[in-house]
Amino acid sequence: MEKEMINLTIDNQKITAPKGTTILEAAKQAGIDIPTLCFLKEINEVGDCRMCIVEVEGRRGFATSCIQTIEEGMVVHTHTPNVLEARHVILDLIISNHAKDCLTCTRSGNCELQTLATKFNVLNVEFPGEMTKHRIDDLSPSIVRDFNKCILCRRCVAACKNVQEIGAIDCINRGFESCISTTYDHSLNDVNCTFCGQCIEACPTGALHEKETIDDVWVKLKDPDTYVVVQTAPAVRVALGEEFGMNIGTNVTGKMVTALKRLGFDKVFDTNTGADFTIMEEANEFIKRFKQNDNLPMITSCSPGWVKYIEMNYPELLPHLSTCKSPHQMFGALIKTYFAKKEGIDPKKIYMVSVMPCIAKKFERQRTEMQNDGLYDVDNVITTRELSRMIKQANIEFEKLEDSQFDNPMGEATGAAAIFGTTGGVMEAALRTAQDILTGEQLEKIDFEQVRGGEGIKRATVEIAGKDLKVVAASGLANARKILDEIKEGKADYQFVEIMACPGGCVMGGGQPIKSSKIRSEIDVRKLRADALYSIDEKSTIRKSNENPVLKKIYDEFLGEPGGSLAHKLLHTKYQKREKYNI
Ligand code: SF4
Ligand code: SF4
Ligand code: SF4
Repeated sequence: MEKEMINLTIDNQKITAPKGTTILEAAKQAGIDIPTLCFLKEINEVGDCRMCIVEVEGRRGFATSCIQTIEEGMVVHTHTPNVLEARHVILDLIISNHAKDCLTCTRSGNCELQTLATKFNVLNVEFPGEMTKHRIDDLSPSIVRDFNKCILCRRCVAACKNVQEIGAIDCINRGFESCISTTYDHSLNDVNCTFCGQCIEACPTGALHEKETIDDVWVKLKDPDTYVVVQTAPAVRVALGEEFGMNIGTNVTGKMVTALKRLGFDKVFDTNTGADFTIMEEANEFIKRFKQNDNLPMITSCSPGWVKYIEMNYPELLPHLSTCKSPHQMFGALIKTYFAKKEGIDPKKIYMVSVMPCIAKKFERQRTEMQNDGLYDVDNVITTRELSRMIKQANIEFEKLEDSQFDNPMGEATGAAAIFGTTGGVMEAALRTAQDILTGEQLEKIDFEQVRGGEGIKRATVEIAGKDLKVVAASGLANARKILDEIKEGKADYQFVEIMACPGGCVMGGGQPIKSSKIRSEIDVRKLRADALYSIDEKSTIRKSNENPVLKKIYDEFLGEPGGSLAHKLLHTKYQKREKYNI
């Protein structure tokens, strides 16, 4: 049925938009930008901060454009003197109770409050006086919360409650004492937080950020007795350029490798090689379970926020999880064993740094089971954002860098590994290898379009080796919950399930460049970054993990069979019902 159309005027422009459209959306469609602050499209549309107020002819007071829908004949003005003055007062009030630390704030230059203060020419603190004082919560390995910079927009609460359906945080108290907190005001380390970081991505200010660990990397880079190795996850290369003004979804692999070499890392490797190992191990594990009809569906385990979630909420389903470590953990384990032995380096002297799109990996690397012979597989995890800060600190002009290649002997990776960074990618990569193993052939049909795309849940029946396989790829923890409930209630007949904690997968991870509410409402950031990964896959000469010559060599020379005893010792892990939330 055709939607009823509404005619209205905004800033003297005649506009027609479907009934039910908000004034904010109708204005946007006509190219008129109304400022917002608490608004986050489809996540937090509550009209709390009133930054988006407009005047509507014939009405008293202001209308809040992010929640007020359009009406026939409406005449709207978005920047009358009254509107401008009111927005200024709103900003003055917010700023009066805000730590004005722009010079030392991680979000300076990418802060929506700072941008608005500049835009509205806020030059004085109009309402000086008492300010609320909050302690800084930096106990978790992944997130720091500084509510002295919080503007109570509740975007984080909505991301946690509505998108992820976790509800680890909410607004407490009233008036001047209002703040965002957890149950009994515990640290985020001691509640049901998964460290997915979606609250950080939602926050317009510096109130939430990752636990930064780049100073430790700088110290190790300067230490002549330490051999510093870095690896970079697939999703990092299609987002890092954004921190240097490049278009969303630009593939900057070559520049990134050059920058890492200039920073002084002894070796620059690709986590994609680790992802190929994950696929080899996971496909073999799946085939074994499939043949024995054991613990099906098998569920992927490479997203640490997701693993923490199932450990906390569905421990009875833990036997379904693949025992594979995530790609960067596998790679770290191989660097400190195979690579160290081959290069004659004492593994104790190796400092393994992972550059990840994820803050949950900061937690994951510290799990006690992620060790071998008393050494952690990975010694430091930094985010895409932290890497960009290191490059800026070193005064490297990233945009002007020439391309370089990853180092050998572990630098070769396949197209299958590249698509790990997006929802459906792990599933597709595993299916490519599983069908070759099951048929004993090198099959040409390797694209599984059914599990591509941005939907939160993608169910499909795929044919491999003459058998129909029921699969599902889910991203975002609210979607994970739906799938787990189906399995728990015996309603699911899937054999293979992929779950990623972040909506859209790692390309939208909590450590990726933060996009403003305006960009998020105008551009499909997930799609652009994911398309860049599929393009890397398409252009790759090798697109199946089982055909990666580096893997073949390392299995032959060192690991033995996929799923064999050494592979199990180094590349697999175990899970626990999580009574305590932290490490
Ligand atoms: S949150 Fe924004 S306005 Fe506040 S100190 Fe940081 S950059 Fe400045
Ligand atoms: S990290 Fe994820 S689970 Fe934790 S508070 Fe933020 S959104 Fe919620
Ligand atoms: S922490 Fe950030 S997102 Fe959450 S209410 Fe405060 S300013 Fe808004």
